[in-house]
Amino acid sequence: MPDDNESGFAPQLGDMSTQEFRRFGYELIDWISNYFDRVEERPVLSQIEPGDLKAQLPPSPPEKGEAMQAIIADLDRLIVPALTHWSHPSFFAYFATSTSAPGIFGELLSAAFDTKAMLWRTSPASTELEEVALDWLRQMMGLDARLTGIIYDTASVSSMHAIAAAREGVEQRIREEGMSGRKDLPLLRVYASDQAHSSIDKGIITLGLGQRALRKIPCDNEFRMDAKALAAAIEEDKREGMLPFCVVATVGTTSSSSIDPVRAIVEIGEKHAMWLHVDAAYAGSAAVVPELRSILDGCERADSIAVNPHKWLFTPFDLSVLYCRHMDLVRRAFSLVPEYLRTPEQEKVRNGSDYGIQLGRRFRALKLWMIIRYFGHEGLAARIREHCRLARLFASWVERSESWERMAPVPLGLVCFRACPELDSVNEETREQRLDGLNEAIMHGVNATGKALLSHTRLNDKLTLRLSIGNIRTTETHVRQVWDLLNHQLQTIRAHH
Ligand code: PLP
Repeated sequence: MPDDNESGFAPQLGDMSTQEFRRFGYELIDWISNYFDRVEERPVLSQIEPGDLKAQLPPSPPEKGEAMQAIIADLDRLIVPALTHWSHPSFFAYFATSTSAPGIFGELLSAAFDTKAMLWRTSPASTELEEVALDWLRQMMGLDARLTGIIYDTASVSSMHAIAAAREGVEQRIREEGMSGRKDLPLLRVYASDQAHSSIDKGIITLGLGQRALRKIPCDNEFRMDAKALAAAIEEDKREGMLPFCVVATVGTTSSSSIDPVRAIVEIGEKHAMWLHVDAAYAGSAAVVPELRSILDGCERADSIAVNPHKWLFTPFDLSVLYCRHMDLVRRAFSLVPEYLRTPEQEKVRNGSDYGIQLGRRFRALKLWMIIRYFGHEGLAARIREHCRLARLFASWVERSESWERMAPVPLGLVCFRACPELDSVNEETREQRLDGLNEAIMHGVNATGKALLSHTRLNDKLTLRLSIGNIRTTETHVRQVWDLLNHQLQTIRAHH
């Protein structure tokens, strides 16, 4: 195998030469630029069938290294067709999220530095930049100065660490003695609304609290936790000898982006000396828009808040932030320093591995810092503000139409709606079943065009379509297009029945 600098093959030993790196690096940056320029021509949802990609890949690894040219060619041939294009401006499903150019540069540099920031000294830049970038984000969101932040990969992990810290605070020696086989330990209870994200359930399962530790509180007719029901549930559990220790409020629920009444919840939590964790994974970023800051009302008294820049702050996946008022408890729950990790400066600095289950940590702060610097507070706010305007615009079309209805308020960038045309005289149950079927067919019909992607949920037991606007490339044109597609699907399906 040739190993000269122009071959595209790996040398006999060592890494790719820097000449080759430069050459293929430029080529790949060109490739990515072309990808963005033409992403709209591709179907948003990958059109492959399960197993298609695997069938095209060799079952065993190559014995000898392959040329970079061949690897890059396979990006177009194999990988791109198997992608669902989150960067497509008509990706409206789930919480539509998107990367951004400064974020991509941050990822690239972070891979180049490849620091494992478990200790301050293993990457002072990573540790200190994280502290600074998270303080900037805290200020932009208008959060209390007593909150300090730490980066994890996902909100699922941020919330799990918050609940672990809350549990550490109940002083039941759970870190030392665990929970199993203990007669002295009451049932520890966590409360969240029935609209809370499944990651809260998973965190509780992972922490060994058991699913029965999570009590789901009903919501009002706008999908917000019923604070009175919360207060009653806590009182009832206390009477039964349980130990309520944590409430999880959601600011921006997954199904409908509803916002729990944090101020009322905080009062209840404080009365019972409970930890209040706020899951603002999606909506938290919107607080960088000054006129939307009120979505975090009451959060100044929260013990912890999870927010995901990778959901709505144009940050490539992954980057979730946990802001916490009691980092000492996070540390108490997780710090464990073997001899080989002792350092002379450990009392003066933050060592990231003290604050979570993982040892090494990626240099995620770099991309966030680059994004905040490149767009600035105003630039970030302008983009999120525009997404909210587009969501309101779409909602206004839904409201004005006889054939569609809005299924939830639209506080941010998500619209929940469904088709509800006149149906021939049928009873209520049959009507609802038919509407479910119709809306599902409309969604699959739109998605099958490849021109847009929507997802669904159930609200009040009705199949509901979700249009989420969060992509940095989405404009009013894309939103108008999806509205036309939806109406076209509705007419086509109705014409066939
Ligand atoms: N919390 C809420 C409210 C969410 O909507 C989501 C995901 O959509 C999550 C948590 C989980 O996010 P992650 O993928 O970062 O774990």
